[in-house]
Amino acid sequence: MKLVGIDIGGTKILIVLIDSSGILKKRIEIPTTDATPLIVCGRILEQLKLLGSFESIGIGIAGDIDNKNGILRYSPNLYKWKNVKLKQYFEKKLTVPTVVDNDANCAAYGSYIVDGKKKYKNFITVTLGTGIGGGIIINGKLFRGSTGSAGEIGHMTINPDGPKCSCGNRGCLEAYIGAKGIIKTAAKMGLKNITPAIIADKARKGNRQAIMVYKKFSEYLAVGIGNLINIFNPDMLTFSGGVSNNWDLIEKRFFDELKKRAFKTPLEHIKIIKSKNPENLGAIGAALLSKR
Ligand SMILES: [Zn+2]
Repeated sequence: MKLVGIDIGGTKILIVLIDSSGILKKRIEIPTTDATPLIVCGRILEQLKLLGSFESIGIGIAGDIDNKNGILRYSPNLYKWKNVKLKQYFEKKLTVPTVVDNDANCAAYGSYIVDGKKKYKNFITVTLGTGIGGGIIINGKLFRGSTGSAGEIGHMTINPDGPKCSCGNRGCLEAYIGAKGIIKTAAKMGLKNITPAIIADKARKGNRQAIMVYKKFSEYLAVGIGNLINIFNPDMLTFSGGVSNNWDLIEKRFFDELKKRAFKTPLEHIKIIKSKNPENLGAIGAALLSKR
């Protein structure tokens, strides 16, 4: 049985074909342009027709999603995409059942199976990238909350008087450790016009300011994760997203700080790792979600 997963991001669309245990069979990347959703969906459709037969389609995308009807109401990455009936479109064109979910939920479900092999039933994945996302699995099931918005880990307040966040609140975790937050911390330390990846390169070469940026990052991250551990007492937590590639610069300081924040017993129990397949998690998880 083969499944299709589609991760629609702000810059690229990743399409995967997997088997039912999450093993990757095919992987296609196409750029996301600012074309209309209809044109972009048409391009996805062309690719899907080349994949042979499959059972179902899962689509992961950032934004406000009507999960039951498979409608993307709004996406922060794709400003032209409003009330796009993704489920209806693909089901009509291909007569294959289609589900649509938040990209962070998809990543969490993918990581639950790929990284955790379904053995860790209470499971959280935190995506570290432009934004900070999260997906929560409780007793082996994705926890969506009452209206589907659960898991907005990036928007927990960690400082009520902190900097303004993209969501309108102040002092969210994302305002500190989202890409913009990292760049702001760097600017304060005299590193201007720079990206998180370049800061990481500098830190690896021994640049003191750059090392300090990731030290601060790790401390804020530990505050957020400490809160999650105390609230959810999970079995396992994984990190994915582009910035998780800098885990070598984060790990030590993060665990030192986490020991000060989280309760001892849940901290001794939990397994925390960087995902083994962070680039494909969203698409693989979307495909696996479509199977259920
Ligand atoms: Zn926020």
